[in-house]
Amino acid sequence: MRPPRVPPPALTAPRPAKLPRARGAPPRRRRRVCVLFALPFSWLIATLLPLPAQHPPVPPPVPAAPPAAAPAAAHPADQVHEQGRIRVFYQTSGHHAVDAGDANANGVPDRVEDVLTQALAAQKLWIEALGFPDPLASPRFAGANRIHIYLRHRADLPTRRDRENKSPRALNGKAYSAVARHRLDGDPPGSGCLQIRISSSIRASRGQTIAHEYFHLIQYGAFWFRPAWLLEGTARWSEKGLGEGALGPLGAFEVWPPREEEIAVLSRLDYSAAPVFWNPLVHSLETGGDAPLPDNAAIRELQTWRYTDGQPVLKDPRLTGWRFMRRLFAELSAAGDAALREEGYTKWTLANQRSPRNDPHILRAIGRALGPDAGNPGQ
Ligand SMILES: [Zn+2]
Repeated sequence: MRPPRVPPPALTAPRPAKLPRARGAPPRRRRRVCVLFALPFSWLIATLLPLPAQHPPVPPPVPAAPPAAAPAAAHPADQVHEQGRIRVFYQTSGHHAVDAGDANANGVPDRVEDVLTQALAAQKLWIEALGFPDPLASPRFAGANRIHIYLRHRADLPTRRDRENKSPRALNGKAYSAVARHRLDGDPPGSGCLQIRISSSIRASRGQTIAHEYFHLIQYGAFWFRPAWLLEGTARWSEKGLGEGALGPLGAFEVWPPREEEIAVLSRLDYSAAPVFWNPLVHSLETGGDAPLPDNAAIRELQTWRYTDGQPVLKDPRLTGWRFMRRLFAELSAAGDAALREEGYTKWTLANQRSPRNDPHILRAIGRALGPDAGNPGQ
């Protein structure tokens, strides 16, 4: 399902018209990000996005996360592999079957073990080690006490249109933002779960799909805003949490505060908002190189974890920007209350969650998370 075409977001406070800064003119006070990439933001966007050469109409908005309604979960052929608060549902024959390889001969396919391992690792990293809000403790998800991960044939996963609105492509994973009532025998009455669907062909040891989807659950529990440039951009950033390296590609020269025309482009990005906006932004906060993860017991334990093929689950103890991102999630949570009031929403419908009217609220929350010296967007 695709949302209707929406106009570029407008800042709530009217601003005087102004011309773009001319080449050679004194720069505004903006956060400088990477001198190696001394290129205008607009040039970078034009490079990353195959926009037409003339006055670029911005591409149609990419659908934000599909509706909160969770898919039919239970399947009679499902088997369950679980630990703690996370269950993986899988099948060993038929359409949804996973690779049956079981090198450690413990009766559970290695692919399934690795999916559970990455989900548990994401939980340990984000919640226990870094102090991000636990989605299972969010008031929004009251009644949910487990996370269910369903391994399903990729053809049965939702699709997403790319930025150029070409043919839809199947996702490798999808997290849902509603409490579902899928109980197993022995579960307390009324207990609920949060749901993730993952392609049954995923090899967790080779990517960060499960951790990416887990990060979406953190987002859903922490704040209501749902633009793709925020949800997918920061989820893509988060893949370096367990993944190799401290930060993904850096694209922009100056990103903060963004000008109005930059905000209009940013609001139409999804995953690419990570290299264009989020990565340069958090990079600018680091003065001493890549940021280490904290040296705490959870991180030390994670460093001992291995996938079934022996690869480490935590590739390295570095992640640039995690403190900022944690502050931002708290600011976005508070900003939701203000947006509800100031935009006249009666409740957080899906349309309200996706509305471009939220962008100024999100941008102000970023400014607050950056600190009082960061400047204001659109100036
Ligand atoms: Zn995503």
